[in-house]
Amino acid sequence: MKDILNYTKEELADMLQEAGFPSYRGKQIYEWLYTKLIDKPDEMNNLPLALRLWLKNNFNCKFPVIIKEQISKIDGTTKFLLQLKDKKTVETVLMFHGGKNSRKRKTLCISSQIGCPIGCVFCATGKMGLDRNLTTGEVIGQILTVIQRHGDIDNIVYMGMGEPLLNYDSVIKSIRIIIDEPGLNISVRKITISTCGLVPEIKKLAEEAIPLTLAISLHASNNELRNVLVPINRKYPIEDLLDSVKFFIDKTNRKVTFEYILAKDLNDSIYHAKQLAELLRSLLCNINIIPANPVEGTEMRKPNAKTVNNFCHILQSKGIETVVRSEKGSDIDAACGQLMAKTNLK
Ligand code: SF4
Repeated sequence: MKDILNYTKEELADMLQEAGFPSYRGKQIYEWLYTKLIDKPDEMNNLPLALRLWLKNNFNCKFPVIIKEQISKIDGTTKFLLQLKDKKTVETVLMFHGGKNSRKRKTLCISSQIGCPIGCVFCATGKMGLDRNLTTGEVIGQILTVIQRHGDIDNIVYMGMGEPLLNYDSVIKSIRIIIDEPGLNISVRKITISTCGLVPEIKKLAEEAIPLTLAISLHASNNELRNVLVPINRKYPIEDLLDSVKFFIDKTNRKVTFEYILAKDLNDSIYHAKQLAELLRSLLCNINIIPANPVEGTEMRKPNAKTVNNFCHILQSKGIETVVRSEKGSDIDAACGQLMAKTNLK
């Protein structure tokens, strides 16, 4: 049976017409799914009975099911284990930001693949290998299930399990659907795709005319180290990666974010900071420094606060906007590189 979340509003309208229903019903179905968050055709009570039956007979409308929900005692970060229609599972993480004098903002980190073939050394998901790509509907379903439970989301980041640009078509289609109205109507500027650096796909993304935020998992300041930490670097070395980033910036005029996991005695020296500053100095970019989370089976260790400060100071002194990103949900293995750690490493 087809997953209704795989289809755009226009595709749905075409299918309705082919089945003998007026195409405007597509908009109503969209509103039930994306605005009212109803995934049972029987409850879509402004649709005629025949249409509800057609939906039930031809489509699976169910959102993914939460089978486990863990809440961090440190910061409230919530990790969901979601079951898909084929019973496979995927992890999705809800993070909370700000809130002392303002409303807490919610960022949802969604997955694009079950497992990942890239094999970054600091990443538990990478140790699983790739099971399969998620469909468009499975990517969107994560968002709908969490909104159903926790209300509206402010930001969406494609930074969970998997390399989103390896599942390019499904990811791009999911973005086109979630920014659509009626529907979730999420601002495209609130959407980030995080990639380990697939050069052809970054260039392709630049041509899509979708003004989202691109984040690059850089993690090293030279090819020698990056070849080890992020193995795709052997195929797309830093020079080629930065060329594609420049191309993206030229095409979109959007600032690019670099992610840099700072690990003790690995990539946290003054030498690395200077090398990194030299690489990024001419780019419209900012950098997030993420003190390493422990991942079982790796030697990643967190640097001390002084090292983090010194590292950031060097970048800032070269004019590079630098933020230390507070890790979220590390006590429930929800932080960067920890997804599926327990499942995989048991
Ligand atoms: S960091 Fe991202 S690209 Fe690298 S192995 Fe993990 S999920 Fe894959």
